[in-house]
Amino acid sequence: PPILVPELAARLGLKPFNVMADLIKLGVFPAPNQPLEPEIAAKVCEIHGFSFEREKRDKDKGFHKVEEVIKEPEAPAEEPEELLKTRPPIITIMGHVDHGKTSLLDYLRKTRITAGEAGGITQHIGAYQVKHQDQLLTFLDTPGHAIFSDMRARGADITDIVVIVVAANDGIMPQTKEAIQHAKKANKTIIVAINKIDLSSANVERVKTQLAENGLQTTDYGGDTEFAEVSALTGKGMDDLLDLMILQAEVLELKANPKATARASVIEARVVPGRGTTATVIVESGTLKVGTPFICGPYAGKIRSMINDRGETIKTAPPGSPVEVIGFEELPHVGDHLTEMKNEREAKSLASERQEEQRLKRLRPQHRNRMEDLYSMVNEGGGKAQLKIILKCDVQGSVEAIKKAILAIESNKVESTFITAAAGPVTESDIAFAASTGAVVMGFNVKVEAKAVKAAKAASVEVKLYSVVYELIDQVREAMLGLLEPLT
Ligand code: GDP
Repeated sequence: PPILVPELAARLGLKPFNVMADLIKLGVFPAPNQPLEPEIAAKVCEIHGFSFEREKRDKDKGFHKVEEVIKEPEAPAEEPEELLKTRPPIITIMGHVDHGKTSLLDYLRKTRITAGEAGGITQHIGAYQVKHQDQLLTFLDTPGHAIFSDMRARGADITDIVVIVVAANDGIMPQTKEAIQHAKKANKTIIVAINKIDLSSANVERVKTQLAENGLQTTDYGGDTEFAEVSALTGKGMDDLLDLMILQAEVLELKANPKATARASVIEARVVPGRGTTATVIVESGTLKVGTPFICGPYAGKIRSMINDRGETIKTAPPGSPVEVIGFEELPHVGDHLTEMKNEREAKSLASERQEEQRLKRLRPQHRNRMEDLYSMVNEGGGKAQLKIILKCDVQGSVEAIKKAILAIESNKVESTFITAAAGPVTESDIAFAASTGAVVMGFNVKVEAKAVKAAKAASVEVKLYSVVYELIDQVREAMLGLLEPLT
C-alpha cells in the first residue's frame, strides 16, 4: 500500500513537518495526499535510523527499528508516598581557611563514629555518617569550595544543608562571604557554626552582627537562620549543632524510595593500588547492591564490592549513605551520576553510545563557516575570504560540471576551493573534514548516511542538499557575492 507523509511521520514518531523537511532536503516536494515513492520513504526512514520494508507479514508491517535505543532510566518526577522513607541529610561544611572546618569534621568523626562501635577504625572515603538522637547524618568531609562548586556546575549537587563555620575571633572573612553566596544561590539550608568560642579573643556578638549584614540573621534576633556556638577543640556546643542539623533535616522532609532504580552521585574518585579504580558515591535513591550493573558518565561498570566509611565490606547501601564502590571500568568524574541498569549488555551499549557522542563533540569546529556568514567575514578581515566546499554528487559527470561552474564564478571578495569533490553519499568522514576545515558540505542528488546525519548534528556542520544544478550554483554565487542573508 502507498504511504502518505502523515502516516510515515507517525510511524517514525515524528511530526509531519519534520518529514516534509527531510523530503525537501532530498529534493522531493510531494503534494498533500500524494503517496511517496518507496525509495523516497526508505531514504527518510534511513535518516532516522529505521529501515523500510515494504512487504512484511506481521501486523507491524512496513517498519522496524534498526538499532535498539537504550536510555538511562529516568528518575521519576514523584515517587508514590507509601514507598518513601526518610533518608539522612547530606551536609557540607564551608567557611574561611583556618576557621575550623577540618577540626569540626575530625571532632565529629572521632567522637561519633568510634564511640561505642567495635573496631571503629575510620577510613577516609570522602564522606562519613554519624548517629545523633538515633538518626543518621551524612557529612561530606572534603571541606572547601572546590567540591561544592564543581558539583554545582554539573547540576549534581547533592548537599541538603550547608554549615558555615566562622571563627569567633576572626569574624567574617572573604571566603565566608563566598560560602554564604554559594549556599544561598544554590538554595541550601544554612546553619551557622560560630567556632573557637573557647578563645578569650572570641567575640560572638560581633560575628552575629557581621553575619546579619551579610543576610544571615539569627533566630535569636527574629531572623530565620539557626546559629550554634561551638568549639571544635573542646567539643562545647557540638551537641547543639547536631540537634540543629536534625531539626533542619526534619523541616526539609528528606525522603527517598529505597526500592527505586538505584542512583548515586560521585563525590570522589581515585585509583587505589591493589583495588583499581574506585569512587565514593552518595546514594540518592534506590539501594546499591553488589552485582548491580551501572552506567556512570560515559562508562559502564558493575559493582564488584562496596566499602563503608568504617572500612567494612558491605553488600547493600541505602539512600543517603556514602560508600566506596569498586567495579568502575574507568575513573569517573566528581559529580557524575551512577545509575543502575537492567543488565551489563545495556550498560555497555549505552556507554559506547555516550563515548561516541563525546568523540563527535570533539569534532566540533572552533569557528563555523556557513555560507551565510561568509560575507560578514570578508568585511571583518582584509583579503579574500575562502569558501571551502565539500561536494558530493550522484555521478562523476555532475561533479565535474558543478565544480567547473563554481570555479567560474568571479568575486573580488571570495575565493572558492574544493576540499573534496567526488561521487557518492555524504559520509561521516565528509562531516569530520568539514568540521576540521570549516567547509560547507553540498550534496547533489545524494543521500546523507545515517551516521553522517548524527555527526553533522553533533558537530554543527551544515549540510546542503540539492536536486537542481542551477539552485546549487546560484546559492554559491550568492554567498560569494554577499547576497545571502546572514543567519543568526
Ligand atoms: P580549616 O582550614 O577551616 O579546615 O581549619 P582547621 O580545622 O585546620 O583549623 C585551623 C586551626 O584552628 C587549627 O590550628 C585548629 O587546631 C584551630 N582550631 C579549630 N577549631 C578550634 C577551636 O574551636 N578552638 C581553638 N582554640 N582552635 C581551633
